[in-house]
Amino acid sequence: MKKLPFLIALCFIFLHCKNKEELQALSRNSHTQIDSLDLQVSEFAIVIHGGAGTILKENMTAENEAAYKSKLEEAIRIGYDILENGGSSLDAVEKTINVLEDSPLFNAGKGAVFTNAETNELDASIMDGKTLNAGASAGTKTVKNPIDLARVIMEESPHVMLSGAGAETFAMEQGLEVVDSSYFFTENRFQSLQRIKEYEAQKQANNKTAFYDATIKDSKFGTVGCVALDKNGNLAAGTSTGGMTNKRWGRIGDSPIIGAGTYANNNTCAVSSTGWGEFFIRAMVAYDISALMEYKGLNLKDAAKEVIQKKVPELGGDGGIIAVDKHGNIVMEFNTAGMYRASMNEKGELYIGIYKD
Ligand code: ASP
Repeated sequence: MKKLPFLIALCFIFLHCKNKEELQALSRNSHTQIDSLDLQVSEFAIVIHGGAGTILKENMTAENEAAYKSKLEEAIRIGYDILENGGSSLDAVEKTINVLEDSPLFNAGKGAVFTNAETNELDASIMDGKTLNAGASAGTKTVKNPIDLARVIMEESPHVMLSGAGAETFAMEQGLEVVDSSYFFTENRFQSLQRIKEYEAQKQANNKTAFYDATIKDSKFGTVGCVALDKNGNLAAGTSTGGMTNKRWGRIGDSPIIGAGTYANNNTCAVSSTGWGEFFIRAMVAYDISALMEYKGLNLKDAAKEVIQKKVPELGGDGGIIAVDKHGNIVMEFNTAGMYRASMNEKGELYIGIYKD
């Protein structure tokens, strides 16, 4: 009986919304009640990130900004074309991430950050929202595109996560491209490591003037990720990273951890994270967003806000996520100064962002 006024109000809204667009606009601007009407905002959609951090306009040259934007666009258009032609969200996620992995601009594949031991150790994961199948690789040094390895682990092995030398053997057995570890060297990332080491040495020597600049803080970040919804209603998510500069002792971050760095479930959403991995693991960021939707009835926007603007910062962490839900709603939420990001919907509308708008 208590629900009667609500139902009457709902009928009233229906009768007065002349077309689908009007209803969709309502759905975007309000929350749970309208979401439960199951309105499809976009038949298919894709979102990518290239890492979150202290990304400030004043520290960016015009050429750098243009280079990031053009690589983000190149990558997302690969995935968009796959989805538009009826391809799967898994293919879109993998192929889009490949473009970002092959670019030295991002902390994944070529361009991965350096460990304390001056090596590059890469992590990646992928998840299929239809089957809840998942694959992840951690700490590999020779696999050119770790997201491909994550995918074959998901599809061709009985396991979910492989690490180090074993993961590399499996990659070779599967015929994936393997490179000399020197392939991952980039001068920029090497200099970032040297700056951090210098800062740490000065701090240890108790030098009060040890200078902690934005580039040091930023050198933590730069992971890439992609989430997609395909025309069959299947969601997928993937993440690939070099981890954090100066990481030690075989450190693994959130990116290859299913539920922290990557999660996809056709009943809720697909999420890829980027940020300070230790906190993202402890907050189980990607799964928590899905769980808030599944068990608490939150919409994607509110669920992402809850985790990224409250839970993670309350623990002391920072970073962001990209996500898409089963209705094609897109969210790009971060608590840092910026996050490289882009999205496209079924109409082919492209959004590219770097800083807070
Ligand atoms: N989350 C990654 C890690 O902690 C880093 C990043 O997103 O930039 O390994």
